[in-house]
Amino acid sequence: MRATQLYAPTLRESPAEAELVSHKLMYRAGLIRKAAGGLYSYLPLGWRTMKKIMQIIREEMDSAGGQEILMPIVQPAEIWQTSGRWAVYGPEMMRLKDRHGREFALGPTHEEMITTLIRDEVRSHKQLPLMLYQIQNKYRDEIRPRFGLMRSREFVMKDLYSFDKDVDGMNVSYQKMYDAYTKIFTRCGLKFRPVEADNGAIGGGHSHEFTVLAPSGESSIAYCESCDYAASDEKAELKVITADVEELKPLEKVSTPDCHTIELVKNFLNVPIEKTIKAVAFMDDDERLILAFVRGDHEVNEIKVLNVVEGANHLYMAEEKLINAANSCAGFMSPIGLNDKAIIIVDQTVMEMYNAVAGANEVDAHFINVTPRRDFDAEKIHVADIRMVQAGDPCPKCGKPLHMTRGIEVGQVFTLGKKYSQALNATFLDEDGSTKTFEMGCYGIGVGRTMAAAIEQNNDADGIIWNKNIAPFEVVVVPVNAKDSAQLEFAEKIYDELKSAGVDVLLDDRKERAGVKFKDCDLIGYPLRVTVSPKTLQSGNVEVKVRHSGEFMTFARADVIKNILELLKTL
Ligand code: ATP
Ligand code: MG
Repeated sequence: MRATQLYAPTLRESPAEAELVSHKLMYRAGLIRKAAGGLYSYLPLGWRTMKKIMQIIREEMDSAGGQEILMPIVQPAEIWQTSGRWAVYGPEMMRLKDRHGREFALGPTHEEMITTLIRDEVRSHKQLPLMLYQIQNKYRDEIRPRFGLMRSREFVMKDLYSFDKDVDGMNVSYQKMYDAYTKIFTRCGLKFRPVEADNGAIGGGHSHEFTVLAPSGESSIAYCESCDYAASDEKAELKVITADVEELKPLEKVSTPDCHTIELVKNFLNVPIEKTIKAVAFMDDDERLILAFVRGDHEVNEIKVLNVVEGANHLYMAEEKLINAANSCAGFMSPIGLNDKAIIIVDQTVMEMYNAVAGANEVDAHFINVTPRRDFDAEKIHVADIRMVQAGDPCPKCGKPLHMTRGIEVGQVFTLGKKYSQALNATFLDEDGSTKTFEMGCYGIGVGRTMAAAIEQNNDADGIIWNKNIAPFEVVVVPVNAKDSAQLEFAEKIYDELKSAGVDVLLDDRKERAGVKFKDCDLIGYPLRVTVSPKTLQSGNVEVKVRHSGEFMTFARADVIKNILELLKTL
């Protein structure tokens, strides 16, 4: 392709709202343009990279046994009502009505759709296992669309669904996808880690998130350097932290004027923060009050809390009237003396504490010498692991201290079990003639987010640094002065030869100044730049710049194609 025929509007400035370097560079390099919040157009360069990522995904999905299909984006409400997710999905689902008033949603995901697709026609164990996938736009009305393609409201996703006859089969499919994802992100040139993850709204058995390591990522990951344990902070399991045994002192109520935060209480009573118990008050959709208690220096993990409270789908900050109705008051809560209007969840580590400080459920008062095992009513509380992991917490596998890092979730694999097949009554006849319900799995990759993550991880002050497998073009050939017909001809010959050799190459035949063209090359980030200058014409030597190392190499004209092909292999 010739740059004079390429629509690649590069910019000097990035939009004010762009916070992430990937967002800025995608704008400046002319990969995307915004249509509205969280809605983007892909320009030719951006779409070329998207297509390359999709091609890698297709190849790996196909070689793992997947078959590509395409389902409608617009999905009838009934299938979501049957699975129960019409209500659960909440405002993130984009809903619409047709002219007859029938309700639909723009698919945020396709479990219901695919389960209804296969349920009437896949009837025998002989048709299993089955893996079907599509690459298509998904719609989620994110509460905060931001970071460009990283968190948008319309985005391209690959979603594959597996159907197996039993749990063993499902686990085999899961492993195949896990391996395929590892190959995909490796081929994209990304540094990533598969991390144990919470299943979120989708429910089911186990799950991994494929996370690209980047300080700007929204995911927080706990990982162990001594073993292979890695988990998202939402999921990371924590061991009980036991405290040294102390002599139990009698419970006592003390006045703590205006001490409505744990910081204030700790300072006022002059106790270490590890000796305090703090509360977070939530309510669910049914306005049930849920009080979560953790040690003062710990944080509550809402996902873990949600997993403990049966029937709760979302958590919100509790309204004060609910706290008061439970016989408590905001800022001074504890499990001691609450009535039945509160669901009380206490972190497992809190139960190990001795002589601690906790609220007295009245304004400006706290209890001291609280020993939960003695003072909390065991009948009224649920004890569970409900806190967020922190750096230094012991690894649940080997006990060594965990480290924290940040990352971008680019893909996720889940086992679903019978969750959707049961709800939507999808069954088959097994070998022994019995009717069984499919064991399912689902596996998603965000294509645009993968592109953004690649830029986030590979860039410098001048622009993007693409891996050659996903670069919009692998090589750019630049005659420094395209008005000089000898230079242009020389460059065109190299361009033609590279094309014939199967290289994805661009000829920058624009009659711009050399500096402008070089700046664009670095900004867009082609892995190799071949420069044709007056010097080249004199000496017959061609200069090649490697984008990622900044290295310049000089090759004799006769060897230039061979050397570029060799060089590309190493990138
Ligand atoms: P997140 O936790 O970041 O909101 P998710 O866990 O809800 O994502 P999944 O349902 O697992 O997302 O979707 C599969 C993949 O789709 C994700 O791993 C991610 O790469 C991509 N994805 C999800 N939401 C978005 C979005 N709003 N914009 C771009 N890509 C997205
Ligand atoms: Mg996910």
